[in-house]
Amino acid sequence: MKTRTKSPILKYINMSDMPFYSAGLHFSCTRCSDCCRHEGGFVFLSEADLDRLAERFGIEYGEFVQTWCRWVPYTPGRRRLSLREKANLDCIFWQEGSGCLVYEERPLQCKTFPFWDSVTASKSAWDKTAEQCPGMNSGSLHPKDEIDGLLKQLREELIIEQNFGPNGGKS
Ligand code: SF4
Repeated sequence: MKTRTKSPILKYINMSDMPFYSAGLHFSCTRCSDCCRHEGGFVFLSEADLDRLAERFGIEYGEFVQTWCRWVPYTPGRRRLSLREKANLDCIFWQEGSGCLVYEERPLQCKTFPFWDSVTASKSAWDKTAEQCPGMNSGSLHPKDEIDGLLKQLREELIIEQNFGPNGGKS
């Protein structure tokens, strides 16, 4: 067998600069719905999410917001539009026996889980989330390029916010 000599280029590559998921990450949703239930969390919405969901219900934007959404504090002076929850803290669209009632039109935040900045920031953040999610670290391998694409999409799809600080009052 031919022996190879390591290229000098390798000394310029610092592996610690690479994201921990360079070799991809395993995930397949088991449809356990745990991320949709029990705990109060925010499902933030973008304009595109709102369009899709209002269209699915056959109602106007404003009616959808009034019926199914609420504003939640985000940072001082800013609040974000989020889906409502039921009294037991399940997502308003989660139903026993059926699961997510709007699965095809679900918000991007739901579609991209667990490939969020906060979860893919480090191996420890990923593993901590995996303690609550049986689909992580098993199932399909998602390559780095796909993960980067999802993270980019999440960063670019602007969440609906209102500024109500001293200079605010504008959407
Ligand atoms: S919209 Fe659907 S997928 Fe998203 S949290 Fe609610 S029930 Fe879960």
